[in-house]
Amino acid sequence: MRIMVTGGAGFIGSALVRMLAQDKQNEVVVVDRLTYAGSLASLSNLADGVDYRFEPVDIRDGHEVRKLMQRYKPNKIMHLAAETHVDRSIDSSRIFMESNIMGTFNLLESAYELYGSLSEFDRGEFVFVHVSTDEVYGDLGATAPAFAETSPYKPSSPYSASKASSDHLVRAWHRTYGLPAVVTNSSNNYGPYQHPEKLIPKTIHNALKGVTIPVYGSGRQIRDWIFVDDHVKALTLATDSKFKGETFNIGGGSEVRNIDIVQMVCEILDELKPNTLVGSYRNLIQRVTDRPGHDFRYAVDSRKTQVQLGWKPEETFKSGLYKTVQWYLLNESWLFGCR
Ligand code: NAD
Repeated sequence: MRIMVTGGAGFIGSALVRMLAQDKQNEVVVVDRLTYAGSLASLSNLADGVDYRFEPVDIRDGHEVRKLMQRYKPNKIMHLAAETHVDRSIDSSRIFMESNIMGTFNLLESAYELYGSLSEFDRGEFVFVHVSTDEVYGDLGATAPAFAETSPYKPSSPYSASKASSDHLVRAWHRTYGLPAVVTNSSNNYGPYQHPEKLIPKTIHNALKGVTIPVYGSGRQIRDWIFVDDHVKALTLATDSKFKGETFNIGGGSEVRNIDIVQMVCEILDELKPNTLVGSYRNLIQRVTDRPGHDFRYAVDSRKTQVQLGWKPEETFKSGLYKTVQWYLLNESWLFGCR
């Protein structure tokens, strides 16, 4: 397979590239403009002999995207490049619209042009997998059933609104032009190589530095957490072109409150790297003013994904979190080296 992975130097993208690289038949092209969130260090430990190229292209540049598409002629495009931090989208939303919406448009336009020029065999294999978020569905009440693939979109933040827009574009290119495309909506990911602006690595980062660990508002917001390798496994299965036109919700089935996660991380750190100066790392937790428009709960129903892709998450939240904290402790230079 010739697979183009946009955002492949980011958190989920690099986990995906590591998984794709295990199959020596795959030729992988990573397209990433290396924002503060992207790092080639996350791709430094790929297996030997991997056929892998890196292209430092900005997907906002339609001309460059078209050149890449013509040069590599991928038969699978896995689109993850995006601005991803909700707080940043509130402070400075333009780049989210440009990268997440126009960037996706540029990829779709070039992918459609390429698709039209492929041989019948390559057209049969071709698929554009658009990696999106459960945040497009908006807020969920405490006892409401989890979101299904048919749930209406109701995004709350500039980030989720930009992702929702890009999902609509992908479906339009499938419906109007027949571009074989799949949309995936995943819940909150955690695992190695996640930027320390996000909850779990931020907690570890601040705890190790001995500074305040901020928790928004009451900390009772609930997210459905999935270990990143479970997510990327589902993504690789979704690249089968027989799924064109489908949407898959990908969730870990582990709903946990933010405050509980922070406390669990502190407990693991207390065990693995005790700090007598602070006592328990829990003493560093401090509630801060809530994020505007903060959604209370996200949860997705992954039954369709489990049945159709023959997939289920392998990691429990407890085991995945333990592994994750261990990884950051072994890779403190990565954690503290992030921009
Ligand atoms: P990330 O912020 O860690 O990585 C994003 C990557 O995209 C970075 O390497 C960055 O350099 C690159 N990028 C950003 N703008 C670009 C541009 N204009 N051109 C080229 N490259 C660009 O994000 P992540 O957490 O790995 O998320 C990857 C995808 O998965 C995103 O589309 C996100 O919306 C989606 N997603 C993430 C989560 C999550 O919990 N992290 C959950 C569901 C869906």
